[in-house]
Amino acid sequence: MRKIIHCDCDCFYAAVEMRDNPSLRGIPLAVGGRADRRGVIATCSYEARAFGVRSAMATAKALKLCPQLKVISGNMARYREVSRQIMAIYRDYTELVEPLSLDEAYLDVSASNRCQGSATRIAEEIRQRVRDEVGICVSAGVAPNRFLAKIASDWNKPDGLCVIRPDQVEAFVRALPVEKLHGVGNKTAERLHRMGINTCDDLRARGNEALVQRFGRFGQRLWELAWGRDERPVQVNHERKSVSVEHTYPEDLENLSSCLSHLPALIDELEGRYSRLLRPARVCGAMVKVKFADFTQTTAEQALSGRGEPAAEALLFERLTQAAWLRGERPVRLLGVGFRLREADGEAPAEQLALF
Ligand SMILES: [Mg+2]
Repeated sequence: MRKIIHCDCDCFYAAVEMRDNPSLRGIPLAVGGRADRRGVIATCSYEARAFGVRSAMATAKALKLCPQLKVISGNMARYREVSRQIMAIYRDYTELVEPLSLDEAYLDVSASNRCQGSATRIAEEIRQRVRDEVGICVSAGVAPNRFLAKIASDWNKPDGLCVIRPDQVEAFVRALPVEKLHGVGNKTAERLHRMGINTCDDLRARGNEALVQRFGRFGQRLWELAWGRDERPVQVNHERKSVSVEHTYPEDLENLSSCLSHLPALIDELEGRYSRLLRPARVCGAMVKVKFADFTQTTAEQALSGRGEPAAEALLFERLTQAAWLRGERPVRLLGVGFRLREADGEAPAEQLALF
């Protein structure tokens, strides 16, 4: 039995803006294009939704529904950065993370041993950590497959967690309105309603053949979903090129020795993350990232031909930190350490590089 979590941030772009600018909280807020340039709403706060404003709606229409709506243009680079932080938290629990967009991902935690292997507790911990470490609210759904996990994450939104245990699937699916099924839009829902089909139970009663006759291949899909069946795997579509940890300090690190004193904790965390990689990966480089107080940043790297002695590795990270810090010689707000990776398959080993 698989354990799938679907994580979905609540009104993501708007949530990032509200996080960074408290004056935007508690008001109808939208991130989107300008009305006079035929822009559309990308995301809006729940205060705006109360007026009927929705994503993909023309900004001009949104402003008619809610004249006091504050529309801002948004900052994709920042959303990407926040998304990276959130996805990194997900990857602390499983390597099987499939991002669907900047704010949405499937996690297969079937083989995870975090939280005693409890998917529910993993989902709770992830929600808590993203709130504490990133300042963003994630709703999550836990279920034995993707289709149900996605429905579950939406069930108690915003700030919700919904768990569908294997023994609850049958009752949950039977009563599920057809509108909730992936691929059933307004048109299809109307068609189904005219046929007297409102729930998955009604779909079952209609029979597989009748559904295929009426809807073709999609009828077959409807039939599977009506029984709660969905075997699609969570797919990690890119090879991992690196593993890293970074930390933004509440107070800037004043000088190089202060940076060096924080290295051991970072290396420990990196070690933990490396050891949790699902597929064995060969280390082909080490890197240190330094972001200075003025937000300029630099990365120092060194090629490697595999893992070395812990003491030698620690020394290498120190040297890289020093090299990076000397490029700015200013207080540091963020420090990161990482390994570049190469898949551990039969390929020829990289040329041996003298390190020290
Ligand atoms: Mg979302």
